Amino acid sequence: MRVLIIGGGIAGTAAALALHQAGFAPAIHEAHPDHGEDLGAFLTLASNGMRALGELAAAEPVAHRGFPLTRLRLIDATGTELTNAPLGEPDDPLTRYRCLRRADLAAALQQEVRRRGIPITRGARLSSLTEDAASITATFANGQTATGDLLLGADGLNSTTRSLISPAQPHYAGQRVFYGYTTEATTIANTAASQHPDSITMIRGSKTAFGYACSPSGEIFWFARVSSPPASPDEIATTTPAAWRDYLAPLLRPDTTPAADIVEATPDQLMVTNAVDLPPGMRWHTPRAVLIGDAAHAASPATGQGASMALEDAVILAKALRDTPTTTTALTNFDRLRRPRVEHNIAASAALSAGRPPSGQPPTLTNEELTRQLAWTTPLPVDY
Ligand SMILES: Cc1cc2nc3c(=O)[nH]c(=O)nc-3n(C[C@H](O)[C@H](O)[C@H](O)COP(=O)(O)OP(=O)(O)OC[C@H]3O[C@@H](n4cnc5c(N)ncnc54)[C@H](O)[C@@H]3O)c2cc1C
Repeated sequence: MRVLIIGGGIAGTAAALALHQAGFAPAIHEAHPDHGEDLGAFLTLASNGMRALGELAAAEPVAHRGFPLTRLRLIDATGTELTNAPLGEPDDPLTRYRCLRRADLAAALQQEVRRRGIPITRGARLSSLTEDAASITATFANGQTATGDLLLGADGLNSTTRSLISPAQPHYAGQRVFYGYTTEATTIANTAASQHPDSITMIRGSKTAFGYACSPSGEIFWFARVSSPPASPDEIATTTPAAWRDYLAPLLRPDTTPAADIVEATPDQLMVTNAVDLPPGMRWHTPRAVLIGDAAHAASPATGQGASMALEDAVILAKALRDTPTTTTALTNFDRLRRPRVEHNIAASAALSAGRPPSGQPPTLTNEELTRQLAWTTPLPVDY
């Protein structure tokens, strides 16, 4: 089966590895002429995401990037420690949480795609699709076309594939999210290294949620989530890092925590995004096209699960296609298995962003069930 993958980000590259491993013929078409990722932000890959990568024999290349996180600390606005607990699966180096730049994760996965000989075409921006009973054809903005048996829309938050399948639009989730890096907060970095190695510290601030982790080389990675109207595209394009520092630091300064000092010690590596998410229940597939990753279920970033969910999608979709007799039933099975989990994550993240408890509903899968679904050699539960 020839599978066209639109987007060579996290979901697209991981899906290519999974489909190749299942014996299909994937080919990636990525809009970006060079790397295909937006620059600037970092993310944490959770143990479930690392487990999915492990099933694709790709955990090791990723584990060489970034740094591990084995403990989660939660402090309040007075600096009082509320929690200090192990994070995820800290004992296994390959399923530990990792903190890394988005660009580094994408680069590691793209390198693995090239190593396995999977074709990737850059500068190919999808503009339209035509589908019939026999095949699906993608047309790109440069006029080129590609035809396959199935197409994966792995083109992220502002997915063109989604716009061709469903009217659903991302909606603002109520927070501006800032990301920054600094090597200049040396006292805080030294304290973190000596007292809380391999930890991520979350701060329940009086006005702002803040989090930071310190790399082994002494660089602090931090984020802040500020409830406010969205930043306009103009504001994002023209506001300088110094102006964002002046906006953010006064919101953090009243608290007795390191947050304001970290922000003030951040020279220029500081960016802002608007947190957005997608509505539940939207259409994910046609007979020959299916959305995965952020294109299908972008969540606001509070739970830090977007990349990990995209990696899970890749494994489960490839297994569904491998274990189910027809593409139609495979896509139905993929939807049935994935939708409750990813929509639960969207709701949980939205609740956290709004300052409510993570979610009214219990998780849709136990860890054991998820591990079984992801295990490459275990057939998927089938219900079609
Ligand atoms: C600032 C920020 C911080 C985040 N922090 C975390 C975190 O801590 N933990 C976590 O798990 N997740 C985090 N996320 C979410 C995570 O990055 C996403 O969920 C994840 O990248 C989704 O992967 P994806 O492949 O679906 O989309 P992307 O990684 O966005 O990839 C989409 C790809 O499609 C390409 N593309 C777009 N349009 C077209 C087109 N028309 N034709 C061809 N190609 C196209 C793009 O160039 C890109 O390469 C964060 C996201 C952001 C923005």
